[in-house]
Amino acid sequence: MSSLHLKRFRRIVVKVGSSLLIDSDAGEVRAAWLTALAADIAGLHGEGRDVLIVSSGSIALGRSRLKLPRGTLKLEESQAAAAVGQIALARIWSKVLGDHGIGAGQVLVTLQDTEERRRYLNARSTIAKLLEWRAVPVINENDTVATNEIRYGDNDRLAARVASMASADLLILLSDIDGLYDAPPHLNPDAKLIPLVKRVTADIEAMAGSAASELSRGGMRTKIEAAKIATTSGIHMLIASGKIDHPLQAVMDGGRCTWFLTPANPVTARKRWIAGSLEPKGTLIIDAGAVAALRAGKSLLPAGVIRVDGQFARGDAVIVRGPNTHEIGRGLVAYDADDAEKIKGRSSSDAAQILGISGRAEMIHRDDLVVGGQRGDAG
Ligand code: GLU
Repeated sequence: MSSLHLKRFRRIVVKVGSSLLIDSDAGEVRAAWLTALAADIAGLHGEGRDVLIVSSGSIALGRSRLKLPRGTLKLEESQAAAAVGQIALARIWSKVLGDHGIGAGQVLVTLQDTEERRRYLNARSTIAKLLEWRAVPVINENDTVATNEIRYGDNDRLAARVASMASADLLILLSDIDGLYDAPPHLNPDAKLIPLVKRVTADIEAMAGSAASELSRGGMRTKIEAAKIATTSGIHMLIASGKIDHPLQAVMDGGRCTWFLTPANPVTARKRWIAGSLEPKGTLIIDAGAVAALRAGKSLLPAGVIRVDGQFARGDAVIVRGPNTHEIGRGLVAYDADDAEKIKGRSSSDAAQILGISGRAEMIHRDDLVVGGQRGDAG
């Protein structure tokens, strides 16, 4: 699996489950293990990769800090336990990453933040800024306000949505098991680990069963759900054991794990989604200079926009046309139609002033832009 070496990836989301982080007997964080994991993360980060952590443990840690009895917690109890646990969790991550000179930034998200377009874009730009500043976002569900009807409940799927939101190219689920087996390994001694899943088929889903350990909500089933979300968003995923020290180093050294491959190259899959699945809500006509910039792989800046047509909201798909209205590409626009109209043709700093915000510089960020054929006239 050398072609899938972690060093190949540029933006990696690492999901750490409660049962790895918290010692279920002592009810405390497994400090030595976490320190070793932080060293692995610092290694990847130090080589210029972006790393995001999705960390569970708020409820489990809160529960032990509050000395709550074992057994199922009522909704308001788990919300309150999460309030106590999350603050402790954030402190621990901040410490172990800080020891490597890395700033940790806590991001608590709810289901709506990943599903509603405006909030999604908002969370996404915060994460992008943290990464630009070389901080490591430490993300969890906001369990203190999440209710049963409107929550993920498991961080496997949350991590997959975060990976897609952050345009990551790899999602690593560190688990209490080292991968997907063709039968439940605790019941069947002949169960075999599947090293590579090229596509999540019904057979693969059937293998996932429903096993879940005591501390985490997610069993293999939510991991397969996560694999579906990740691989259809152009992100490779892997499940590896987090039970050993230096679990990421172990993967790099060729340790056992299960890879789930995204069918396309990540950029292509996301761009296909932008180009193909979204109904364009408007059109931006751009000048020849901007056409050349886009074809060179750059973002679309307000300065290059000549005309704005249609009623679109921030985050909607729009068609980008050249001066002679020839289609250049499609993308997700960072401003709504009214604001786009106000800032078209202006420099990014003028644009920020006009809108009274220190806005995003791009009209369409290049990650959100699909440019058609690279040849032809200047549009
Ligand atoms: N968000 C939950 C917590 O931090 C964990 C969910 C999970 O274990 O997947 O306690």
